[in-house]
Amino acid sequence: MSKPCSKCKGEMLLSILDPFHGEQGGLKLSVHEMPSLICTQGHKRFIHIEFAAQLMDLVMSPETYRDIPVAVKKGLFKKRYHCPGCDLELPESPTGHKTQELAAELGKAQPFKLVVDMPVFRCGGCGKESIHSVEETGKLAFKATDHAYRSIDIHPS
Ligand SMILES: [Zn+2]
Ligand SMILES: [Zn+2]
Repeated sequence: MSKPCSKCKGEMLLSILDPFHGEQGGLKLSVHEMPSLICTQGHKRFIHIEFAAQLMDLVMSPETYRDIPVAVKKGLFKKRYHCPGCDLELPESPTGHKTQELAAELGKAQPFKLVVDMPVFRCGGCGKESIHSVEETGKLAFKATDHAYRSIDIHPS
C-alpha cells in the first residue's frame, strides 16, 4: 500500500495517465501512458520520489539525441552554427521540426513513452537538418517537461 494522498488523505492507486504536454522555445514534449498514483479526488503523485528527476535526466541526456545530427559551433563571442554535412552556415531561426520518440524505463516502473518534437535548422546548401547543440535541445526539453508536470498538477509527495 502506498501512503495516502497528502492533500485529502484519500487512498492512492496506481494508474496510467492520459497523454500530457509541455512546450518551451518551440520544442514540444508529450508524455504517454506514464504510471502515476492518483487518489479518488484526482490528486496526482509520482510513483516514487526520484521519478521526476529521473525523467528530467532522460530528456537532458546526450544519449537521448544521439541519432540527431548536430551543428558545428563556431565563433567565440557570437555563436554561429554550421551544417555538419557541408559546413555552410545554418539559418538563425528554426526551419522545421523533427520528432524523436523515447522509451522511458525508470526503475521498476512500467515502461512508457515520450515524444519530443524539436526545432531543427535546415541547411540551405545540402538540405540536411540538424539541431544547434544537444545541450540547447536538452535544456528546452527539461523546461518543457517541467511545464508538462505543472499542466497536470503532479507532485513528488
Ligand atoms: Zn487526494
Ligand atoms: Zn549542408
